[in-house]
Amino acid sequence: MELLVEDADIVTMASGAAAGQARSLLVRDGRIAAVGPAGPVRAAAGPDAQAVRLAGATVLPGLIDAHCHVSDVGYLAAGADCRQPAAPDIPAIQARLRDAASRTPPGTWVTGSGYVEYQLREGRHPTRADLDAAVPDRPAVLYHTSLHACVLNSAALAEAGLADGQPDPPGGAFGRDAAGRLDGVLYEGPMFAVFERNFRADLARMSAAQQAGLMQVAGQHFAALGVTAVCDADVRRDTLTAFAEADEHGVLPIRVYGLVVHDQVDWLLDSGLRGRHSDWLTADAVKIWADGGMSSRTAAIHGSYPVPPYGSGILSFSRDELTAMAGDFAARGFQVCIHAQGDRAIEAVLDAYAAVLAADGGRGNPRRHRIEHAGAMYPALAARAAELGIVVASQPGFLSTLGDGFAAAFPESSDQLYAFASWRRAGIAVAGSSDAPVITASPLTGIRDAVLRRTAAGQVLGPGERLTAQDALAMYTRAAAFAMHREDDIGSLEPGKLADFVVLDASPLDVDPERIGDIEVLATVVGGTPVYQSTGLFAEGGVNG
Ligand SMILES: [Zn+2]
Repeated sequence: MELLVEDADIVTMASGAAAGQARSLLVRDGRIAAVGPAGPVRAAAGPDAQAVRLAGATVLPGLIDAHCHVSDVGYLAAGADCRQPAAPDIPAIQARLRDAASRTPPGTWVTGSGYVEYQLREGRHPTRADLDAAVPDRPAVLYHTSLHACVLNSAALAEAGLADGQPDPPGGAFGRDAAGRLDGVLYEGPMFAVFERNFRADLARMSAAQQAGLMQVAGQHFAALGVTAVCDADVRRDTLTAFAEADEHGVLPIRVYGLVVHDQVDWLLDSGLRGRHSDWLTADAVKIWADGGMSSRTAAIHGSYPVPPYGSGILSFSRDELTAMAGDFAARGFQVCIHAQGDRAIEAVLDAYAAVLAADGGRGNPRRHRIEHAGAMYPALAARAAELGIVVASQPGFLSTLGDGFAAAFPESSDQLYAFASWRRAGIAVAGSSDAPVITASPLTGIRDAVLRRTAAGQVLGPGERLTAQDALAMYTRAAAFAMHREDDIGSLEPGKLADFVVLDASPLDVDPERIGDIEVLATVVGGTPVYQSTGLFAEGGVNG
């Protein structure tokens, strides 16, 4: 079967001679058969090709999110949506939690997510009392959009074993009322513990078909934002099994490249899920965390934070431990992806990679070992990363959402955080990503932020680090494909590659950068099959042979 896309403004993102604009695209058996001017492409099509005219709409290669948490997005989608603008105040959140309670099976915590306290009309976190009023008789949890905080009702606090008078745990804190009693808000460590516990327990209660359905819903969330492929940066035995189940039943709408958490690698090797499961699912990379986060001020830095919780951040492993782990996984043929945000952590990771690559014969970085985030990768560190050929997966979209917090935590160096233009000039392959559900999964928001670098308060962080829209788009296409070893299949629209593309109502290369985040996704096509469309451009069912 053939699909002929015509009258489109096609940005191929191909390099070299194939670069430039095209008007038509021919899909045959899920791959691109031809792309270019209308005449030659039409001539290449058979008489039965299904023609779709796009009336000048923009076509880009399918957008790729090189670091996100797909399964978390899918899990939270099943609970109450408490984001803006759906839930503008606490009564709206209460109504949504009440509604979620009516459809949450017994034994499961009632779950909501997506609020930001300073965006609520009340300008504060909801409390246990607010949640008790909505869900009085069973545990309920409401996750902050950052997934660095949450609120529990009284039943949930009791089930989590948290009581008044309890001191703050290491790596976390409890919100308290004027009398010093727990107000239900949990920050950092205890929040992560609640999330992990609930997610694992809820997943374990689901049938295989329900688990596959969760991954399908998660994939659809990304597809609606123009995403056709992702790296899930936190895959464990239960979530990878669920992805595999979805893949087997043909319900994964987007391609998934799993970064498997380091302590699950032995299981991965036994499970038979290592490597390319299909064109849709691959697990050939390992994830390690070297330090904490930027917005939580737990990234390991030289010097100390001028804001709470002060200190110099947390390094999870010594450089010798990192070297041993990375060396072990590299020797077993894995791509290694290490979360490192602060300059002290990035230095330790570069030391580890230097040792591993030297021991591997000094032939560059053929497995494309990565640094995830790399927020405070200052010029000297970037030069080292470039020399070692380290790939970076980073998140421009943090700048509009979390940038004001970065400016407060890094008053002297905030202009050098997420230094995309400098990194690019140094020759580093920098893949674009969202870290969703930490922030929106929309790659168009990320592209806008790579161009504008403007915080919510209106400050531009590092004006010299702004990218052109073309270079920002390359992060979410070619560079992201490279970061997941898929550049032969995805990342640009060229004959022979998979027919993954997105149809937009405007081109991010042409509109005022302020508008890039508002561009509408008209359709998302993966392997020639429309997996999302806002209007009926394409016949349902697709043509992927
Ligand atoms: Zn992440």
